Amino acid sequence: MKYSLFLFGVMLLVWSCGTPKKTVLQAPKPILVQPDTVKLEASRENLIDTRQVLDTLFGAAEVPVVLTTEDRVREMMREGINKNADWTEAMHYDVRKPNFVIIHHTAQTSINQTIRTFQLPHTKVSSHYVIGRDGQVVQMLNDYLRSWHAGRSKWGSITDMNSVSLGIELDNNGKEPFSELQIRSLLVLLDTLKTKYSIPFTNFLGHADIAPTRKDDPSAFFPWKRLAEQGFGVWYDEYNLQMPPENFNYVDALRIIGYDVSNLRSTIIAFKRKFIATDTSETLTDYDKRVLYNLYKRYF
Ligand SMILES: [Zn+2]
Repeated sequence: MKYSLFLFGVMLLVWSCGTPKKTVLQAPKPILVQPDTVKLEASRENLIDTRQVLDTLFGAAEVPVVLTTEDRVREMMREGINKNADWTEAMHYDVRKPNFVIIHHTAQTSINQTIRTFQLPHTKVSSHYVIGRDGQVVQMLNDYLRSWHAGRSKWGSITDMNSVSLGIELDNNGKEPFSELQIRSLLVLLDTLKTKYSIPFTNFLGHADIAPTRKDDPSAFFPWKRLAEQGFGVWYDEYNLQMPPENFNYVDALRIIGYDVSNLRSTIIAFKRKFIATDTSETLTDYDKRVLYNLYKRYF
């Protein structure tokens, strides 16, 4: 029996060392070993048992324990139990749903580069979806998980946008138009998400909307008008642009729409990149004021 355990241990060590170092945490592929007559499947429990065996045989060796997403979530869930309160479980619940969608451009040169960025340990960034120039949609995180795409950001009174939103990255270097195939895939994905999670149409935003001092994505090439026509985001009525009254407060209007106005210059640039596109200076022209007034009256 001791010899069988030793053999099993050595086999596992060879298996561990022979496996190329992976940056993605994946569920272990079941491998079957047959010491004597007992079949053992390399479930997570077995890996931990085997680790103890290896530790006994060779000292505390570095054997990677492969955690599934479910394992990692289970670990995180423990932190949600308040140790200072008594515990008895209610029986009715589900999980919190995303209520915003934030659109980004990657500022990179290929979808593979972005996927790799989101799988490297040191980058500390991710998004739920990445869409390639050819329209390929790659999901990289479960919709119910909090991806790290928004960073320091604010919309209305919400200061933790990662907790309430889904992140979609579009493969685009920031200086080029978005391809038709990519936008078509995006619209299909947005439709799915909007329906599935009952996301209000006003809550489809760009990264620059929620972080105007730090971010400029998606670029002025992004077709916000087309999105709004399909029910994702807001747009003005260009045939009914009236000059606002004397007492119209532009700063308040931007704030009521949702913008963080603590750095007004950046906010105006972000607003103009999205709604004016051809002029992204830091002052509001008469035309820009009409656009803002129209949006304000129309939706807020
Ligand atoms: Zn971004």
